[in-house]
Amino acid sequence: MSVIIISAPSGTGKSTLIGHLMQHVPGLHFSISATSRPPRGTEKDGVEYYFLTPEAFREEIARGNFLEYVEVYPDRFYGTLRTQVDRQLERGEHVICDVDVLGAQHIKQHYGDRALSVFIQPPSIEALRQRLEARGTDSAEVINDRLARAEFELTFAPKFDRVVVNDDLAQAQQHFVRVVQEYLQSHE
Ligand code: ADP
Ligand code: 5GP
Repeated sequence: MSVIIISAPSGTGKSTLIGHLMQHVPGLHFSISATSRPPRGTEKDGVEYYFLTPEAFREEIARGNFLEYVEVYPDRFYGTLRTQVDRQLERGEHVICDVDVLGAQHIKQHYGDRALSVFIQPPSIEALRQRLEARGTDSAEVINDRLARAEFELTFAPKFDRVVVNDDLAQAQQHFVRVVQEYLQSHE
C-alpha cells in the first residue's frame, strides 16, 4: 500500500483533478487530517477532518502525535496524525494526503519510496488569477493573498517526485491518472 501526496496552489484545480483520479483509480482513500478550523457546511468530525480546539491541537503537538502540522495563521492548525496514515495503510488502503507544500516534504521524507509526491501546477500565475476570479468564491483581497502564496509554493515544484501542469483539463486528468497508476503498478 502506498501514500500519494498531493499539493497545489489554491485555485489550480486540485479538487477537480483529485475527484477525477478517485473515479478512475480504485483503492484510493483520503487521509483524515486534524484541524482547528470550524466545520464547514455538512462536514462531520472524523469524516473530512478531526475537528479539534486550538488547545486540544496544541496538546497533540506537545505529545509528538503529528507527523507534520502547519499553523496557517494564529490558532488555525492543520496536521497529519502519525497513527492515521499507518492505520489506513494497514487496512489495505492507498492513502491520499492533500497537504500544503511543506507538509508534503515532511510526509515524503517519512515514507520515502512508499510515497509518491505530486505537485499540480497552474500554467501561469495569470491563469491562476483568471481561475480564481471565474470560480467567484473569493474577494479581490483573498485572491491577491492566494496569488502571493502561490508564488512561494511554485518554488517547491522541483522538490516533488512528479509535476502535473493543469493547463488543458482533459490532458491534465489523463496525465495525473497515468502518473499515479504507473507508480502504484511499480510498487505492488
Ligand atoms: P483547487 O482545489 O486547486 O482550489 P478547483 O478544483 O476548485 O481548485 O478549481 C478552481 C477553478 O478552476 C474551478 O472553477 C475549476 O472548475 C476551474 N478549473 C480547474 N481546472 C481547470 C483547467 N484546466 N482550465 C480551466 N479551469 C479549470
Ligand atoms: P481547507 O480548510 O480548505 O479544508 O484546507 C485548506 C488546505 O489545508 C488544503 O488545501 C490543504 O492543502 C491544507 N491541509 C489540509 N490538511 C492538512 C494537513 O494535515 N497538513 C498540512 N500541512 N496541510 C493540510
